[in-house]
Amino acid sequence: MSEEKFDAIIVGAGLAGSTCAYLLAQAGLECLVIDRGNFPGAKNMTGGRLYGHSLEKIIPNFAEEAPIERCIVHEKISFIDEERCTTMEHTTPVATDLESRSYTVLRSKFDQWLAEKAENEGAGYIPGIRVDDLIVRDGKVCGIIAGDEEMEADMVILADGVNSILGEKLGMVSQVTPHHCAVGVKEVIQLSKQQINDRFGCSDNEGAAWLFAGMPSAGQMGGGFIYTNEDSISLGVVFGLHNAGTTDKSVPQMLEDFKNHSAVKPLVEGGKSVEYSGHVVPEGGYAMLPKMVADGVIITGDAAGLCLNVGYTVRGMDLAIASGAAAAKAAIKAKEDGDFSEATLSTYTTELTNSFVMKDMKLYKALPEFLDNPRMFNEYPTMVTAMMNDLFTVNGPSMPLRKTFLPHLKKVGFMNLIKDGVKGVRSI
Ligand SMILES: Cc1cc2nc3c(=O)[nH]c(=O)nc-3n(C[C@H](O)[C@H](O)[C@H](O)COP(=O)(O)OP(=O)(O)OC[C@H]3O[C@@H](n4cnc5c(N)ncnc54)[C@H](O)[C@@H]3O)c2cc1C
Repeated sequence: MSEEKFDAIIVGAGLAGSTCAYLLAQAGLECLVIDRGNFPGAKNMTGGRLYGHSLEKIIPNFAEEAPIERCIVHEKISFIDEERCTTMEHTTPVATDLESRSYTVLRSKFDQWLAEKAENEGAGYIPGIRVDDLIVRDGKVCGIIAGDEEMEADMVILADGVNSILGEKLGMVSQVTPHHCAVGVKEVIQLSKQQINDRFGCSDNEGAAWLFAGMPSAGQMGGGFIYTNEDSISLGVVFGLHNAGTTDKSVPQMLEDFKNHSAVKPLVEGGKSVEYSGHVVPEGGYAMLPKMVADGVIITGDAAGLCLNVGYTVRGMDLAIASGAAAAKAAIKAKEDGDFSEATLSTYTTELTNSFVMKDMKLYKALPEFLDNPRMFNEYPTMVTAMMNDLFTVNGPSMPLRKTFLPHLKKVGFMNLIKDGVKGVRSI
């Protein structure tokens, strides 16, 4: 057993863990971060868009020094079927308010930067070690076990990501089931800066976020995404695991088909694949949030299910950062009080409840159920692309628009359109 006793041991050097470590070290607490990856971020994956507001509050103007890729100014949402693609586009100047900006990031670079910030404040990091278990004495978490090694701490912060085995061992987190998670695969494709600027209509440092509903996830809940990095693009597919029985396609095959779609192929042509990764996305939502605090322990980020899968996109990084910060605040108070009980550490959940984290989790609580409707990702994308096709086709006398559109609307069914419309409005 290690002789040293830490104020806090943090399991996981992702955004939740390193944000927590940064703030704890800044407040003078002795903390140690342990990660199974060879370096912070080595095992971490994201689609690519970081909403900057939560980190901006902790490290003002962080984008000046952090390895961000591009600031997003172009937004595109497409309905896409096997052949056609209808896109809505929105372009805005770079926001003057820093908290309203969002950036594309690559986690292997970004997480290392954040970990270095925490190290500079005095946090210790041990990479390449998997925490196997927790030391629990009289119902209180007192440290961690990694192989033959035991290390003691007043508090353990679990920031070990989705499928937290340690949270499960404590009986706080439920085992991940296909109904409560999606799987994402992503390829990073290298292109020149100029190719990206030309293909996505960007200037240097400005980027695009492009989401696709329909064929990328085989007509089921999920979707495709493309984010432009400095000299690469992140292209991926997210697919709800509970729908695995509805298609013969594997998720990697979905990614291949998406890449080869006529609307996407020219965007990736000539690019070199430099990274391929897969990861689970928690999508249980508000109803499935676990117990997040017990004596001597706090659970943060994806480990606590704090991730929003709103169907066509996933948002978890800003929640991970904010929950890591809330955990730090609670741990600092516990250290001041010399009391590491569940009651004292519960300031963590109060902090989350008062922040955007729980407010957004609550706001979108009905959305996953609404979106988990094959019409959303199959019939509606097909309806929209077919209507647009007819609208732009001239091959003889034109028909009144209502006659052009009516057959497509009838195909989906007016009752379905009304039902889904009402349900959609209620769920947001
Ligand atoms: C395909 C996909 C697309 C996404 N797109 C976006 C997006 O565009 N925008 C967005 O905001 N969010 C997105 N997300 C969600 C976002 O990536 C996560 O919510 C976020 O990474 C959670 O951060 P975290 O720090 O909680 O966990 P993680 O980043 O998963 O970090 C957990 C860390 O714990 C370590 N670890 C785990 N177990 C142990 C152990 N036993 N011992 C030691 N170390 C351990 C891991 O190595 C890892 O470093 C996406 C997710 C996926 C999968």
